[in-house]
Amino acid sequence: MSGFEKMKIIDTQERICPCCMARHEVKRVSYEVNVTYKGIPVKYNEESFYCDNAGEWFVEEDMMSKNYKAMIDAYSGPP
Ligand SMILES: [Zn+2]
Repeated sequence: MSGFEKMKIIDTQERICPCCMARHEVKRVSYEVNVTYKGIPVKYNEESFYCDNAGEWFVEEDMMSKNYKAMIDAYSGPP
């Protein structure tokens, strides 16, 4: 995951973390992403969880499809 900026924390919740399998506070963050989709530069906001224990980012299935939808919505397509 590279090229993201303007990250902001949406919320923090204590839960079983699927990344490290321990119960702790997991941050949900949103950040701006710039990608090239079908040759068109697309800018949109993506969401992700962050595990402090493992120091890793992860997304869940519904979040992944939400992120994908956000990208498709931002993609205007060729003129
Ligand atoms: Zn964790």
